[in-house]
Amino acid sequence: MDARSDSALAKRVRTTCPYCGVGCGIIARRTEAGWRVSGDHAHPANRGLVCSKGAALAETIGLEDRLLYPEIGDKRVSWDAAICAVAGAFSDAITEYGPDSVAFYVSGQLLTEDYYVANKLMKGFIGSANIDTNSRLCMASSVAGHKRAFGSDTVPGLYADFEEADLVVLVGSNLAWCHPVLFQRLSAAKAERPDMRVVLVDPRRTATAEIADLHLALKADSDVALFNGLLCHLAEKGVVDHRFVAAHTRGVEAALLEAGQSGLADVARDTGLAADEIAEFYGWVARTKRTLTIYSQGVNQSAVGTDKVNAIINTHLLTGRIGKPGRGPFSVTGQPNAMGGREVGGLSNMLACHMEIANPEHRRIAQDFWNAPTIASRPGLKAVDLFEAIHEGQIKALWVMATNPADSMPDAYRVEEALRQVPFLAVSDVVSDTDTLRHAHVRLPAAGWAEKDGTVTNSERCISRQRSFLPLPGEARPDWRIICDVAARMGWEDAFSFAGPHEIFDEYARMSGVENAGSRDFDISGLAALSEDEYDCLGPVHWPIPADGRQGGRFFADGRFFTEDRKACFIAVRPPKDTKRAPRFPFVLNTGRVRDHWHTMTRTGRAPRLAAHMAEPFAELHPADAETLGIGPADLVEITAPRGQVLVRALITDRQKPGAVFVPFHWTDQTASKGRIDTLVAPLVDPVSGQPALKNNAVAVRRFAAHWFGFAILGAPTSLDCAYWAQSTLKNGVAYELADSRPLKDPTGFASSLLKRAELVGYADTARRHSRFAAIENGRLTGALFLSPEPVAVSRSWATSLLGRSFGSAQEAAAFLAGRPGGARPDPGPTICACFAVGANDITRAVTRGHCTVGSVGETLGAGTNCGSCRAEISRLITSVTDTTAGNRLGKTEEPDHDRHTKAVPETV
Ligand code: SF4
Repeated sequence: MDARSDSALAKRVRTTCPYCGVGCGIIARRTEAGWRVSGDHAHPANRGLVCSKGAALAETIGLEDRLLYPEIGDKRVSWDAAICAVAGAFSDAITEYGPDSVAFYVSGQLLTEDYYVANKLMKGFIGSANIDTNSRLCMASSVAGHKRAFGSDTVPGLYADFEEADLVVLVGSNLAWCHPVLFQRLSAAKAERPDMRVVLVDPRRTATAEIADLHLALKADSDVALFNGLLCHLAEKGVVDHRFVAAHTRGVEAALLEAGQSGLADVARDTGLAADEIAEFYGWVARTKRTLTIYSQGVNQSAVGTDKVNAIINTHLLTGRIGKPGRGPFSVTGQPNAMGGREVGGLSNMLACHMEIANPEHRRIAQDFWNAPTIASRPGLKAVDLFEAIHEGQIKALWVMATNPADSMPDAYRVEEALRQVPFLAVSDVVSDTDTLRHAHVRLPAAGWAEKDGTVTNSERCISRQRSFLPLPGEARPDWRIICDVAARMGWEDAFSFAGPHEIFDEYARMSGVENAGSRDFDISGLAALSEDEYDCLGPVHWPIPADGRQGGRFFADGRFFTEDRKACFIAVRPPKDTKRAPRFPFVLNTGRVRDHWHTMTRTGRAPRLAAHMAEPFAELHPADAETLGIGPADLVEITAPRGQVLVRALITDRQKPGAVFVPFHWTDQTASKGRIDTLVAPLVDPVSGQPALKNNAVAVRRFAAHWFGFAILGAPTSLDCAYWAQSTLKNGVAYELADSRPLKDPTGFASSLLKRAELVGYADTARRHSRFAAIENGRLTGALFLSPEPVAVSRSWATSLLGRSFGSAQEAAAFLAGRPGGARPDPGPTICACFAVGANDITRAVTRGHCTVGSVGETLGAGTNCGSCRAEISRLITSVTDTTAGNRLGKTEEPDHDRHTKAVPETV
């Protein structure tokens, strides 16, 4: 098959989604109305499916806010001047202070070819290993756990195992929101085989719980206790593959000894779970050969992340459930090319092609192969240490590529301080303004997703081509080329004279086979020497792909691992001691993603339908905590830690555990007044992997005493002077949620300054402090502002749909100001289905009309029938409405959860 299809006509291009580690194949089509994207049925990862983020990709490829020209300071410069400035600053620092005085901080957003040349430049030519990646924040603990157990960073299984398992255990993984297409595959498999069981191990009852037969809401970071208990249980019950353990592993006695003889009561105490639910879980695992344990950031982003990974792997080694269909430990990565970054050595403790810096033979192979003047001889600085080293004056020049550490790193204010302090900072990015870019001395415009060519590797080791379908805008350049230009200017032109990504890929593929012969897991030498055309046409392919023609498949079915004696290692792990929380900071802060946003929203934030799902930063709180703290639905709350404070909307839900609070990390200084949650996170890391503990921090929560709340819709973003604002994108403008603790003395003056140069109609009820204003220009609504002493109770879906609408009469404008939908169309409520703009109220009405299954709701409203990302939420809503209806029949009067938020936090469910 020509995997490009008819890309030569540039009307239909096969490429890969740039968001999560599922790595879905995408087809981009040029139509009369512009580019459209859809899932690629021929891609093995998604078989035509996409999630809401993937489905909205075409809405994110415009040139608004793009960085289009190189800049030094605030001035546009030539590429020559910019390259010269970067190369000069790095060369000067190396000459004066040595190779370890410079560093790259890169990203799982880079393509493999970009990553490869960055790593080659730093480790083989500059001679330092100071290159680390934001993937350190994502899966470094999985890498470390794999290496401890297998001797290599190998994901043993394939996505097909999701469908072939009889028991799927999801640990610290909100698959429904963070890897939606895998969730859809798993849901479909379960629907087809109802005997398949799913267990969710997660402190929160996330959307993923919708398909779980059992939800274990354990205490934060108690996973080692749970899996050590499981190891003991399996040994006690004789569920041990003695032949496999004896022939292919070592260390089982020590692991069992460390796990102790924990009875159910001990595990229950350590995890906070009920003994009977633990017993049920252990019983299911003991009885089910085809057990697959999928884990993600809830495991990795922890001060004991590596131990958690090994506690899970130990149970699979004991039972020999690894490398065979439907069984094994399975780490799903967060970023689209986190796996590619691992392969090329993007982490500061690895060399290219899964070779080790600590191994002198591997260093020799890499240096000889690159014909490099030097080779890094010791691991470089890991992400958290790297920014700390800037404070200590060790780093003189830093180059950040395709990431935004000022927002995403823990202790983000201190990281931002480091970015301000470093003597030289270059940043390559596609957008013109991020909290990191603001501190750059040199800004380098990089190619965006639709303009880039290269490869990425997904969580199941599948290498896919990412193909450009748009020309490079302005003077933007692909990352690989910027890196090679700098390397050439530093004096290494010959080693970096690649004509294109295909030549880089060829070198990389050749390197993977050097002195390998099965001694290292990563071997793609079978893809060496592809012509440019063959590279262009390369279809998705799983590694390993050695030169002898074998391809893909699972690892370890033969019991041969990549340690010196080819045996897997049990790792003896001990649960961490319970840390006492300071009384001032009694809550456990957990951070993570929402369904429709990606990272710091530089792309997803541009798509109105994605912004509609969660339009502002929020904190999930248990109702009991909210009541104790006097926090009502849609109030604002201050979350405080020793290093900072954020101000976000309260989302009160019993999906959260008492004593815990969840806040997403997507909001930045561009999108909210005080929403950067990683500013509160302590720079505590796992001692083995260096991965930060982003999910278990101590904070305080209290109600923000707002004097007024506001909701505004405008044609364009503006700057605001109020304690709380959060901006979201609309089709033809922006929306703002507003609030302040200071009285608003002159509502009309505030409205005039906000809505600008327009005819204002409206009223201010000074007694009740309710004000409403509409700006009309040439008969069209160009803006509106609602003010209230309580959270503004107006349907956001309805109000935002009116922006730009013509008003023929004063009555119509007056109806608008009344703040409720017109009679013709009922309020859809908060967006649930982003594809068809179906709201919570639409679905509730359908359920009350008798559409009580997800399929039936889909048939009547279309919701959930395109990308399917919202199916878990639809299911939850159906349960909520039907339970409430039943409750009302029994005399209960409680409102369904979503209705409360519909009234006050319209876009947050
Ligand atoms: Fe992209 Fe969604 Fe697929 Fe992830 S699941 S790769 S975000 S389409």
